[in-house]
Amino acid sequence: MSKRVCNFNAGPTGIPLAVLKTIQEELLDYRGSGMSIIESSHRAVEYDEVNETAILLTKEIFGLNDDYHVLFMTGGASSQFAFIPLNFLAEGKRGVYIDTGTWSSKAIKEAKIIGEAHVAYSGKESDYSHIPGDDELDIPSDATYLHYTSNNTIKGTQFHRLPDSKGLPLICDMSSDIASRKLDFTKFSMIYAGAQKNIGPAGMTLVIMHKDMLEKANDDLPTMFKYKTHADSKSLYNTPPVFGVYVYKLVLEWIKSLGGLEGIEKINIAKKERIYQLMDLYPDYYRGTAESESRSWMNITMRLPNEELEKKLISEAKTAGFVGLKGHRSVGGIRVSTYNAVSLEAVEKLAGFLEDFKKNN
Ligand SMILES: *Cc1c(COP(=O)(O)O)cnc(C)c1O
Repeated sequence: MSKRVCNFNAGPTGIPLAVLKTIQEELLDYRGSGMSIIESSHRAVEYDEVNETAILLTKEIFGLNDDYHVLFMTGGASSQFAFIPLNFLAEGKRGVYIDTGTWSSKAIKEAKIIGEAHVAYSGKESDYSHIPGDDELDIPSDATYLHYTSNNTIKGTQFHRLPDSKGLPLICDMSSDIASRKLDFTKFSMIYAGAQKNIGPAGMTLVIMHKDMLEKANDDLPTMFKYKTHADSKSLYNTPPVFGVYVYKLVLEWIKSLGGLEGIEKINIAKKERIYQLMDLYPDYYRGTAESESRSWMNITMRLPNEELEKKLISEAKTAGFVGLKGHRSVGGIRVSTYNAVSLEAVEKLAGFLEDFKKNN
């Protein structure tokens, strides 16, 4: 087999090897149909089964009952930034937003185009290195929802609790930590995520919505912009992102085989601990950019003593088979993304590489 790198890209990124192998096996002849799943009709029984299984597995793995709709949409998480206010912010209503980084800010920008957005907290002053406690949130009681970003992909911070929404329906952008740990998902009115970080390829956006939330949605919208259209048709109103849903289903089966979210969480904790331990050992060399209590388990961000060393590290790492370690262009430095598909073994190898790099430089 050709050589595969240790992939630490921030998104799109690696897909579990077992899943890639299944895709390869099924590509020319999907279960005796004589064609691949991406060549078959989205109204055919083959795809219908993929769609149904993906919905059922989502509910099983996240611990949700039939009060929740599972939608497979397109347009990425970025389109959801607009879909949410379009559907829930009618005249005179306002959404509340926690601003913990680039993606939260983008969600706020879209909400302001469509309706009124109240910012409950902004981390801008602290350069988004901090996750606010509940006592730092200013949440008006007359608002329509509370929106937050559970993991800040670029700044490397993460909520390690659900924020207290003061009774408002809770909406979360989970694009970069979905299906990475156990949470009480029944506390959410809506969850959404672009698939390309933790659960599949780019092109499919997962939306999970409680039926009570759906009932509050505006009806006077173009058909494709209404959540109701997608919920009523089980995401088959128009052609769904067939390949994305198929791979997502395979990824969920893989997560299930590892013991579900509990199993994957254990691996993810071991991974992030390996890197943070190293950073805590050499805090002046591998300098974390996030406050320690706000550290992300999925995107570990750090600076080295100077940019020359950062460049050198990225280049030597690439030669050694570790790719995707360059920090986001807006922050620089190093970012180790440890999404679900990254194995503990790959992280251990990287930790060894970082130890050696420090010794030699
Ligand atoms: C990557 C990312 C997005 C943007 O996702 P697209 O699918 O590219 O629109 C939004 N929110 C978070 C938290 C992300 O990590």
